[in-house]
Order: sequence, then structure tokens, then C-alpha cells
Amino acid sequence: MAFFNEKPVVVLGGGIAGITAALELAHLGLPVALVEKSPFFGGRAAHFACKATDTCQKCGACLVEQRLRDLIQESGVTLYPHTELIQAQRPDGLFHLTFRRQPQRIDPHRCINCGICYDECPAISQQAILTGSSPAQHPRYAINPAGCLYFRDGSCRICQELCFPKAIDLDRPETTFTLEAPALVLATGYQPADPRSRPHYGYGFLPRVITGWELEQRLRDGAALEIPGNGRPARSIAFIQCVGSRDQDHPYCSRVCCAYGLRLARLIRHRLPECRLATFYMDLQNIGLDAQRFQEEALAEVKLIRVLPGDVATAADGTIKLRYLDEVSGQALSTAFDLVVLAVGIAPGPENPRLAELLHLDLTPEGFIRSHDDLHRTATGQPGLFLAGTVEGPRSIAECIAQATAAVQQVRNYLEAAS
Ligand SMILES: Cc1cc2nc3c(=O)[nH]c(=O)nc-3n(C[C@H](O)[C@H](O)[C@H](O)COP(=O)(O)OP(=O)(O)OC[C@H]3O[C@@H](n4cnc5c(N)ncnc54)[C@H](O)[C@@H]3O)c2cc1C
Repeated sequence: MAFFNEKPVVVLGGGIAGITAALELAHLGLPVALVEKSPFFGGRAAHFACKATDTCQKCGACLVEQRLRDLIQESGVTLYPHTELIQAQRPDGLFHLTFRRQPQRIDPHRCINCGICYDECPAISQQAILTGSSPAQHPRYAINPAGCLYFRDGSCRICQELCFPKAIDLDRPETTFTLEAPALVLATGYQPADPRSRPHYGYGFLPRVITGWELEQRLRDGAALEIPGNGRPARSIAFIQCVGSRDQDHPYCSRVCCAYGLRLARLIRHRLPECRLATFYMDLQNIGLDAQRFQEEALAEVKLIRVLPGDVATAADGTIKLRYLDEVSGQALSTAFDLVVLAVGIAPGPENPRLAELLHLDLTPEGFIRSHDDLHRTATGQPGLFLAGTVEGPRSIAECIAQATAAVQQVRNYLEAAS
């Protein structure tokens, strides 16, 4: 290709958007460096459960697994896990990007994923050892210096001592390195909205109130839907939509919560047919092309209550009482549930302000990185720097894939014009 350049296009962020961009760039024959802050690729969606019942609910979770497998086999993409951007300059048109990289302290050739390091770690509650969720990635474990006692004060080496295949070496040093890139794709994603922004729902102090994010991970890990602190399977579950979306602090729709909340509810109905399910909502948004059919099917399995509860309280038997106004009669009602799931939305990535400053980008009033084209929403104010995925705003897995593909076309056009 005329614009082929030995220097790699850098993709920052290894979630579904970044992985898609990296694979598509490699398919164009361009060298690519995919840089991921965490030890594992796949981003948030790699932690989601497949929500298939008798039929596929098209949640998109399997797309991430598939692309992870493709990524590991793609020789055109150089992977930089556990690597952070610390400096960015552009003296001559090229991006000069300096990174700090954590070494692989668990040797993939020796590790047998026995999990002793994880089980015996005294600082596991501080996330001293992180676990990946995809079987496509090996090893499944990674040392996290931010939580590990060895890196705090040298007081612990238990994992290294107990590892019988001798896979762990805590003394491997971190490194810094620089890449010169003709173009950069920013795909650093989002964070789930903090449910504490709605304190009246009791998250954080009522153990039976959990988030959709936590439920996704429980279902992914195959955990039973037990009532926290009780051990009994939940016999009634309520979903509350729009937590961290369409409120004063987050005046936008997160675009994914209605669909994932209803899919999760239907998955539970499939697994626990006796379970009583209710979804409290404002209105149903973005539930797919076949919205009418999806809504009818959901209605047959889940009670949809068009109001958000005013508050929650614990009843004497430990259940959670939701109080709300009946839409038709205007009467105050209260219903008890074993478990309450808050459908948390998409909040801007915590690093957006730092990245915006480093790369001279603008933020939207909500805190996402601002795009400068209304059509694809991939261009930025910086030539050669493009956006992909939820770093720019809320979108689903399928929408991230589409936008990342559009971003790659923009990279291609840019490099062709520049060569
Ligand atoms: C509870 C919940 C359930 C959902 N369920 C569904 C569903 O069923 N179906 C669906 O389609 N969508 C769902 N979504 C939305 C879905 O999670 C997103 O569409 C998708 O994960 C976004 O992918 P991304 O690549 O943009 O971001 P992310 O998944 O956030 O990936 C970004 C990656 O960038 C990395 N990163 C961050 N900062 C840096 C940095 N400075 N340097 C390098 N790397 C960095 C992160 O570690 C991460 O790996 C759900 C969202 C929530 C909150």
C-alpha cells in the first residue's frame, strides 16, 4: 500500500472498540500496536454473561470472545498489556508516545493456572492479583503492583514461594519505552456509573441491592443467584433502570441499560422459572431493531412497571421493600423483593481529563472525549487522532464495533492523504 509505513498505528485501549480497530488496521496491512492499561484484553464486555435463553438474545458478549481469539492469532498486531501512556508529543507530525509497562511477573510458559497465588494471597481484597475472564488469555492471573504487599513495603512473597511451577518472579522491573506513530486511535472506554449517585436505593449499605455490572459478572462466573448473606436462591428480583443515566449528574441516556436489563431478567426467568421478576423503568430506549417483538416477549416474562421507585427499605424478614406510585391510580404502593438490581449506566472513563490534556483533546460537558464529526463521531480536533467506542459516548458492543470500523477508514484516509 502506498501509505504503508513501518511505524505502527497505535491503538490505545484493548476493549471491544480497540480490538476491532487493531484487527481492521492489521487487515489493511498496517502494523499496529495495541496498548492496554490492564493485564488483560477485552475491556468491560469481556466480563459479561452470554444471555441466551432457548434462543440467542443478541447481547453481543460472544463477539468479544470471538475477537479476542482473533486478536491472539493476528500476527500484525503487537500487544502491549499492562502498559500506560505517560507522555505524548508531536514535534514532527508523528505521535511520540512514551509508555510505562509492567512486566509479566507470571511466566505464561510455566503457569498452569492452578490459582494457588490467588487463593493464598493475603491482599486479595486489595486486588493484589487480578484475574482475566476469557479462556482465550493465558495466564489467567496477573500481579497488580497497586495492591500487592511486596510492592508496598516488601513484606510478602507468598505467591512466589507457593508457586510450584516457579512461574512467579516479583523482581522483574517495569520498563519505559517510546513508540512513534503516524496515527493514533483512542479507545479507552468508560466506567460503570456509580450507583451511590442515587443513595436512596441503598447501594453500599443494603447487601441485597447489587448492580447490573455485578450481576453480569456473577452470571458469567456461573454463580447461583443467591440472596447475599442468606445463601437461599432469590425467589423475587426487581430491576431498577436508569441508575446513573438521565438524572441531574448524568443528563444523557446510556443507550444499553434497557436492553441489558431486560435480557438479564429474561435470562433469570429462563434459569429460575419460579422467580418473580419486575422491571421499574421510565421508558424503553434502544432495545434493538425488532423493538416491538422484544418488548412483547419481555412483557410475557417480566412485569414492567412504568415508574421509578421513590425509595427502598429493609422489611422485617430481610427483603427489600420498594415504594412507588402506581401509574394508573396514583396510589402509593410497596412491593418486597429478595434482590434488587440497579441497571447502572455508562459514565465517562476516569482518565478522560488526563488523556484530553496529554493529547490536546476536548471534553464534552458530561466528560466524554468530544468528536468533531457528527456522522461517524470518530474525528477529533487533532489530525491523525481518532476515537472509537465509549470513550466518545455511550454505545453498545455492536455500535462500538461499527464505530471502530469507521475510525479505521478515517485512519486509512488520513494516511493516504499524508503519504
Ligand atoms: C452493566 C453493563 C452491562 C452491559 N451489557 C451490555 C450488553 O449486554 N450488550 C452490549 O452490547 N453492551 C453492553 N454494555 C455496554 C458495553 O459494556 C460497552 O458497549 C463496551 O464494553 C464498550 O467497549 P469499549 O471498548 O468502548 O470500552 P471498554 O470495554 O471500557 O474498554 C476500554 C479498554 O481501555 C482500557 N484503558 C482505559 N484507559 C486506558 C489507558 N489510559 N491506556 C490504555 N488502556 C486504557 C481499559 O482497561 C479497557 O480494557 C453494558 C454496559 C454496562 C455498564
